[in-house]
Amino acid sequence: MEIQGVGIVGAGTMGNGIAHLFARSGYRVVLCDVEQRFLDRALDTIGKNLDREVAKNKITVDDKTGALKRIEPVLDRSKLAACDFVVEAATEKFEIKAEILRDLDRLCRPEIILASNTSSISITRLAALTKRPDKVIGMHFFNPVPVMKLVEVIRGLATTNETYQAVRDLAAKLDKTPVEVNDAPGFVSNRVLMPLLNEAMYAVMEGVATAEAVDEVFKLGMAHPMGPLTLADFIGLDVCLDIMRVLQDGFGDPKYRPCPLLIKMVDAGWLGRKSGRGFYKY
Ligand code: NAD
Repeated sequence: MEIQGVGIVGAGTMGNGIAHLFARSGYRVVLCDVEQRFLDRALDTIGKNLDREVAKNKITVDDKTGALKRIEPVLDRSKLAACDFVVEAATEKFEIKAEILRDLDRLCRPEIILASNTSSISITRLAALTKRPDKVIGMHFFNPVPVMKLVEVIRGLATTNETYQAVRDLAAKLDKTPVEVNDAPGFVSNRVLMPLLNEAMYAVMEGVATAEAVDEVFKLGMAHPMGPLTLADFIGLDVCLDIMRVLQDGFGDPKYRPCPLLIKMVDAGWLGRKSGRGFYKY
């Protein structure tokens, strides 16, 4: 089946990036969130990011206009029923994703693949909530989606080769490089990355060094393009905390306990770049 229309559930940091990518690649996009203000903010961000691509001569003004026209923002999830492929990119909480997956399973044609952009939650568990576990897969994009080349493609226990191949092919059409990974908490990327960010937070909390100093160490000493605390702010501290909790629950190993400073900052509403304050002020 040729994929023409793509549904995206969740229009936050990742959802707007995924919508941008698909629309710029010529797909029709139905972008769904729970409040109009989230959809408005997403379209505003996509417009600005497309402008940036125009300014860098990566796309033309016509490409931008075309991409924006291909995105239909909706509050009514039933509009996703006509889509040929759906990516769930909502908040990193199992209950939220579970409700969405069950509903998508009810709404979408039985042959449609349901992908989740989850950073850490079990694809096997999400798939088991549907009547099509063979067609549920992880399609984990990286932030900022239009720029980052990697897509971690996660096979749940029941995901078939056919589903995997379809998602690999789709990633290639989006000019991304898919990497195959099996289902485990945090997959590869966040199983390795998140404990690093969490440990950097412990270093700040314990007064070992300032956030700036920790970031300098990684930028200058390990050639990281941004330090771990800048990256945590960029990802969203709430998202980081949710992922640490999935690792902690999934492995049952105390080494994955979230840093108390991270918990405190999320409680304070200091979520990083998106809220204007995290380890840095924006
Ligand atoms: P975000 O908080 O920026 O956005 C989440 C969006 O989902 C919000 O707009 C929220 O209103 C919406 N939402 C919540 N419940 C919904 C529902 N029932 N129906 C429709 N929309 C709903 O979060 P994000 O950073 O975009 O993360 C989204 C997903 O992508 C998470 O699973 C996260 O782990 C994953 N992810 C995040 C990053 C990152 O760097 N932030 C990278 C890769 C993957």
